[in-house]
Amino acid sequence: VVFVLFFVIECSVIFLRLYRRGLDQLDELRLERDRVQAAYEVKSQFVSVVSHELRTPLTSINGALGLLRTGAYDADPAKARNILEIAHKNSIRLSALINDLLDLQKIESGQMSYNFEEIDLSDTIDECIGSMETFAQAYGITIDFKPPERSAIVVGDRDRLHQVLDNLMSNAIKFSRRGEKVHVRVRRDADRILVEVEDRGIGIPPDSRDKVFGKFTQVDSSDRRSHGGTGLGLCIAQEIMAAHGGSVDYSSTLGEGTTFVIDFPLKDRTK
Ligand code: ADP
Repeated sequence: VVFVLFFVIECSVIFLRLYRRGLDQLDELRLERDRVQAAYEVKSQFVSVVSHELRTPLTSINGALGLLRTGAYDADPAKARNILEIAHKNSIRLSALINDLLDLQKIESGQMSYNFEEIDLSDTIDECIGSMETFAQAYGITIDFKPPERSAIVVGDRDRLHQVLDNLMSNAIKFSRRGEKVHVRVRRDADRILVEVEDRGIGIPPDSRDKVFGKFTQVDSSDRRSHGGTGLGLCIAQEIMAAHGGSVDYSSTLGEGTTFVIDFPLKDRTK
């Protein structure tokens, strides 16, 4: 009897161990399936965004060049110039898309490189506002920036910070209503320098954080139709700010507006 009992207990222990191992393997398989599914979703979003974002400007460039080729506007240089302008704008849009894709590739392979130097943030913001002027005018938006009294020196990569600020300002412009103002401010707290880009635009719904910072995602897919964009800008900005020892964050009220904030460690607290 003792032997049988011992045998039954031993078999039950072995069975329970096997059962437990089976459950663990099942969990691993489920995790793997979720990973594959997530990768598949990113890939299909990639294909749909990239093909749409490539096709739209290319169609426009083809149309413009086709019209010019027929000689239909030979007698009207002003119209011909307009059409060339459209082709030019769309080729800029194409290069922006390709740059975003190359940056994403660099981020994912850990090959993003930075050229760090001392930078006065007020100068970088002024440069960005200057380069954004025509874009802001097209949307009927003015950008307001009063440089801070104390200099705002950070250690950063000039071009990459330009890229982050361009992204925040162009989003603020795109998602504002005509005639509105976008405010840019530099603030300091105990150990950080913060740059805020505030708009009074359409705002972001409370549950959309993943979409805002995700790859190829936009809060409302109709945004893509009305404003273009790849949904990559903020994902890249997050990576760039992390490399500066900082971050990107936002607060927003739907229908009232959004404030994006980037922050940097203070270079020298005495300045
Ligand atoms: P995109 O190229 O689509 O602008 P981003 O990564 O810069 O990509 O932004 C992702 C999405 O976050 C936008 O498509 C938009 O839905 C939302 N978003 C970003 N900034 C703002 C803003 N200031 N106001 C409202 N929505 C915004």
